[in-house]
Amino acid sequence: MPAEAVRPVNLPARVEIFDTTLRDGSQAEGFSLTARDKLRVAEQLDRLGVHYIEGGWPGANPKDGEFFARASAGELALGTAKLVAFGSTRKAGGRAETDPVMADLLQAGTDFVCLVAKSARWHVTETLQTTTTEALDMVADSVAFLRSHGRVVFVDAEHFFDGYLEDPLFPRDFLRVVEQSGATAVLCDTNGGALPHQAQRAVGEARKVVSGHLGVHFHNDSGCAVANSLVAVCEGADHVQGCVNGYGERTGNADLTAVIPDLSLKLGVETIGRENLALLAPVAHHIAEIVNLAPNPHQPFVGASAFAHKAGIHTSAIARAPGAYSHVDPEAVGNSARVVLSEMSGRSAVALKAQEMGLRLSDGEMADIVGRLKELENRGYHFEVADGSLELLMRKATGWKQSFFHLESHRVVTDLHRDGTFMTEARIKVLVGDERILEVAEGNGPVHALDAALRKALGPRHPELSRIHLTDYKVRVLDSALGTGAVTRVLIDSTDGERTWTTIGVSENIIEASWEALSDSIVFGLLHAGATEHVGEAGVGAAAGGGVAGTGAGTSGAGV
Ligand SMILES: [Zn+2]
Repeated sequence: MPAEAVRPVNLPARVEIFDTTLRDGSQAEGFSLTARDKLRVAEQLDRLGVHYIEGGWPGANPKDGEFFARASAGELALGTAKLVAFGSTRKAGGRAETDPVMADLLQAGTDFVCLVAKSARWHVTETLQTTTTEALDMVADSVAFLRSHGRVVFVDAEHFFDGYLEDPLFPRDFLRVVEQSGATAVLCDTNGGALPHQAQRAVGEARKVVSGHLGVHFHNDSGCAVANSLVAVCEGADHVQGCVNGYGERTGNADLTAVIPDLSLKLGVETIGRENLALLAPVAHHIAEIVNLAPNPHQPFVGASAFAHKAGIHTSAIARAPGAYSHVDPEAVGNSARVVLSEMSGRSAVALKAQEMGLRLSDGEMADIVGRLKELENRGYHFEVADGSLELLMRKATGWKQSFFHLESHRVVTDLHRDGTFMTEARIKVLVGDERILEVAEGNGPVHALDAALRKALGPRHPELSRIHLTDYKVRVLDSALGTGAVTRVLIDSTDGERTWTTIGVSENIIEASWEALSDSIVFGLLHAGATEHVGEAGVGAAAGGGVAGTGAGTSGAGV
């Protein structure tokens, strides 16, 4: 997309990025981070180059207290990011000097503090049940107290946008008090309902009141958090708060993985630096893994499908001009373009896919793949969504065969125990090079047990496996087009911490389909981790005569 000819008048040259994944973002459903997880997320955010990392609310819960204690004890070595502690102002009618929240904030030991305070008249009188004068004094006193202890202070103006619509006078007074007391105001759309034209007007008015830094913090309840953040910057806001991957309670916070590239690549505003932009997709995926939420493939900029083009009318245009159907260069944000192949794909699409993978295919091999795709998709495979298996299929057409391991047999047994719990045990016999290995592992289901057994078998030869994890497992029962009864399609998503891939298995037997997807996942992971293959180390006959290695007695622990 061509750069804008006319720059918005109030557009700043540089915007500070303030990440609140560890505080606001961790309000998301399904989030449960230990202090150690929080330290690892903070390391990734620092690697990405965000300017501020809000670590949590010290004193509000023990984990956040532990996080700040461990961070200040040297367990968190930040390169450029500044750590921020979050809390509220002193209580109504109280004193900052004796307020427990103020004490917790000092105890956290950060140079930067973010306070939340109500900036809407209705919230002051109705939910806080105090006067607007006292509400402003609470802000001024708290900021003065923290500054007297050497802290740099941000003030989150809670309900600013709703309050501004209701009565702009009090929010304006609020901003004046924040600035006069020496803090930076951050305008918050706490309920997340603001629309871009409302955000634009309110930020424009706020910009007239505030001469220094001005921040914004949008929730995504109306689906406009990113748009509102961009509009706010166009109106002169130069500090944007949000979360990596848009995490947050309800519908989430402004997604920084979209805000950052939109500001940098489209508005030409300096954020985390061009060279760091290429870390966006890897860091977004890494953090998704730490917080244990499957990455959204359709997420703008960083999703696995963000630059995927379905083979067809676009394919020949993309072959001629790679940027023809992309809004930005995918490499700029650490992502990559890919062609999605399906049974509808012709030779030109297969050729493009091969080129993307760095494979040289002969005409015969190309025809082979097109035919094989049609045949497999007819049996229920769906390679559009299984890039990992597709790559292996294409490699096989060139005569390549994986030699990390060869399955001799596997067996999966599920027991129902007297207390009503199920336990699954998998036994696997594989050949790894010239070694025949038998392993047994328990799991909370057949895939988990098979995965655990395979890892035990391969682990000693392939330490790279410890970085590879399965992140999602999906099963779908399909009516067979051939009328031979239903077949099961299994999709497994995996990651090595930065790259994600999907593999597929199809069979009338769910265990068989799962095994197919699982073994493809492990092979793909090992291949891309640069693991050594065991080509030619031993033939099947020689290995089959060897002794059985491994004790077969180990289990991975009950209930896992
Ligand atoms: Zn918030």
